[in-house]
Formats: sequence, structure tokens, C-alpha cells
Amino acid sequence: MIEILEETTKEPISLMGRRAGVCWGADIADAERNYKRGLECIRSGHHRVMEYVNVEMILDGYSARVIREWYTHIGGAPTRLQASTRYINYKDFSYVVPPAVAKNPEAEKLYRAAMETIARTCASLEGECGVPREDAAMLLPLGMSTRIVDKRNVRNLIEMSHQRLCTRAYWEYRELMGDICTALGAYSEEWRYLVENFFRPKCDVSGYCTEKKSCGRKPGSPQV
Ligand SMILES: Cc1cc2nc3c(=O)[nH]c(=O)nc-3n(C[C@H](O)[C@H](O)[C@H](O)COP(=O)(O)OP(=O)(O)OC[C@H]3O[C@@H](n4cnc5c(N)ncnc54)[C@H](O)[C@@H]3O)c2cc1C
Repeated sequence: MIEILEETTKEPISLMGRRAGVCWGADIADAERNYKRGLECIRSGHHRVMEYVNVEMILDGYSARVIREWYTHIGGAPTRLQASTRYINYKDFSYVVPPAVAKNPEAEKLYRAAMETIARTCASLEGECGVPREDAAMLLPLGMSTRIVDKRNVRNLIEMSHQRLCTRAYWEYRELMGDICTALGAYSEEWRYLVENFFRPKCDVSGYCTEKKSCGRKPGSPQV
């Protein structure tokens, strides 16, 4: 469901170290020191260097609804392309079935019947009524699965993990974030380290829960 494209920086920590080293007059030919410097920058909160690390990936099979939430992460001017709803054949679109629906046979029957009704109606509007596909597509549900090609920097992605690994986040987004962690962690050793140590829910960063309705994993925020 997640494909990390080859344009993604292979050695993100070393790259950060090299970029910082230029400004510090350091020897950027020394690989070990570059790595250490990159790590120091992250640990010290000098997060501007994270913006040099590129991540390009294909997200496929997630709902249009979760992708709508994905689009709220705008820090660092990310960009993306999304599958068109005008030209693709959506008469037999695929869709996500939430676990709460899948575990209840009656609910699943109703859910699938509603999706089939939408698909049938789209086909009739287009076929029998001559409505253009782009207009019939107004009926398509947020649960429909879609595909995007996404490009952003790692600072944005780490910020995103703080919000979206939180138990308050929408379940599909938490799964999507987990899938991204798995895919990036497998991309290189440096990525594995970044994912294991810096992709965390926000309560792990602040030491307390900032949400009004807490899951109880950490104590609530201090009164201000
Ligand atoms: C549980 C939950 C419920 C939510 N419910 C809703 C909802 O009902 N409706 C809704 O619309 N959204 C909702 N959201 C989305 C949420 O409001 C944020 O838009 C989303 O999480 C993106 O987070 P962000 O702003 O930190 O990310 P980014 O936009 O990537 O920003 C990252 C950081 O960059 C900085 N930054 C970004 N842009 C600017 C700027 N313009 N000026 C200054 N600094 C900037 C800030 O420090 C920010 O924290 C929800 C999110 C969660 C986790």
C-alpha cells in the first residue's frame, strides 16, 4: 500500500549532518562525523535541517477520507497528485471496510449494499441518463479507495507522526502512519533509526497528554 520511491533520500541522517556541516565549517567528507552531526541536530531540536530530507512515495488503497485528512499537513509546502475522479472507471470502485463494520455481519451487509447502490446509480446516470462521468462522480463516497503520489520533507512527516500516532487520531490514519513507518524503516538503516526514535505520538514528545479526551497513556497536561 506504500511504495517508497527512489527519489527518497537514502541516508537522511548523514545528509542532515552534511548540510549542517557546511554552515559550521566542518569536514563534510568524514562520513562518521556527518552522521553524528545529523543526529545531534535532531536531538538538539535544530529541525530546519530535516527539511533537506526528501520523501516521495505512492499511497495506494487508502480511503479518500483519510487522504482528505492527510492534506491538512501543510507545513513545508508538500505536494501531491491524486487519482482523477473524472476519467477513471468508478462504476466498480473499490472501497475501505472499517473493522467495526467488518466484524458485524449485519452491518457489513448494509454497508456493502449501500456501496453497490452508489456504483449502480453512477452507472445508470452515466449510461441511461447520459450524465457526464464527472457529474455522476459526485455520488462517490469518502470510503472509496484512492491513490496519491506524495512528496514532502521528513520534518513534516515527523510532525505528522506526533498527531497521527496518537490514539485520538482516526483509526485508518493510525494504520496509514504505521504502514509509512514500516515502509521507511525498511528503506535503509538510517531510516530505521529515524522511525524507531523520532516517529512518535505527541505524548511521548511532551511527556503528557494534550488531548481533552485522553486515552490515559500519559497524565494530562499541566494547568496553564
Ligand atoms: C484527533 C484529531 C482531530 C482532528 N479534527 C479535525 C477537524 O475536525 N477538522 C479539521 O479541519 N482538522 C482536524 N484535525 C487536523 C488538525 O487540526 C491539523 O490540521 C492536522 O493535524 C495537521 O497538523 P499540523 O497543523 O500540526 O500540521 P502541519 O500543517 O504540517 O504543521 C506542522 C507545524 O508547522 C507549523 N506551521 C504549519 N503551518 C504554519 C503556518 N501557516 N504558520 C505558522 N506555523 C505553521 C506549526 O508549528 C505546526 O504545528 C484533527 C487532527 C487530529 C489529530
